[in-house]
Amino acid sequence: MRQMVILSGKGGTGKTSLTASFARLSRGKLVVADCDVDAPDLHFLLQPKIRETHEFQSSKLPGIDHDLCTECGLCVENCRFGAIDEDFCVDDIACEGCGLCALVCPVDAITMNPKVSGYWYRSDTDVGPMIHARLDFGEGNSGKLVARVKGEAAHTARETGQELLLVDGPPGTGCPVIAALSGADEALLVTEPSSSGLHDLRKILAVCGHFGVPASICINRHDIYPEYTEIIERMAEDEGVPVIGRIPYDENVTWAQLAGKAIIEFDDGPASTAIRRIWAGVCAKT
Ligand code: SF4
Ligand code: SF4
Repeated sequence: MRQMVILSGKGGTGKTSLTASFARLSRGKLVVADCDVDAPDLHFLLQPKIRETHEFQSSKLPGIDHDLCTECGLCVENCRFGAIDEDFCVDDIACEGCGLCALVCPVDAITMNPKVSGYWYRSDTDVGPMIHARLDFGEGNSGKLVARVKGEAAHTARETGQELLLVDGPPGTGCPVIAALSGADEALLVTEPSSSGLHDLRKILAVCGHFGVPASICINRHDIYPEYTEIIERMAEDEGVPVIGRIPYDENVTWAQLAGKAIIEFDDGPASTAIRRIWAGVCAKT
């Protein structure tokens, strides 16, 4: 089973549109994973039907037993986040789950309880199984949830004998990206011709290099700033990274998103044609 992760140094480069198009072009021989757990949006384009919903617990919240509490105030004094009020009640939003209050409580009135931080889902789409998730607002540990989604997706792909695990990766270069890259055979980096696009591309290339994941580059909306497209292509050549495709600006990509469709099922315009060509190149590498 081949694992391909689609990444970009930042959001808004067209990564999810490309993932949805690849998923449609694969003709049902894949498992797809949406590892952008902070702001998932692949479900808008693949319309999954949720089969299973699972809680994701990664942090803890203190519970105060008011029958045991002697109101000594030590927990309030020691909580540097101001999360315990004068009535010895915990503010769920302000609490960081560090557990210090439970440690300092002299009468063991505080217990740290697991907290639901989000959910992950096992779903069906008309292109194959999909594993996706949503982290609750303000929760940390998105790397752990990404690892969970990726692990479940890889397990499903192996169990059902699929040829491809296609991962829509999280934006950025931090812990969630590293979790998404773990075990990948290749990374496709989607960028756009701009100074920030080049900057983010260099960072994500460095991450792929560090973890030994072979990368290739796709330049989206390459015609909106041709000079920068050339700069990116020169950088790619210097780094020995192949540019496997260029997608022109096409306003129908936005219309396709609004219609809840991947661009390749929406029309046969310039972006759709370019993506089909890129997919043919991806398949030719197997
Ligand atoms: S767990 Fe940490 S942040 Fe939360 S209330 Fe206790 S001391 Fe404050
Ligand atoms: S430290 Fe324990 S006993 Fe003291 S106020 Fe807090 S919960 Fe109550």
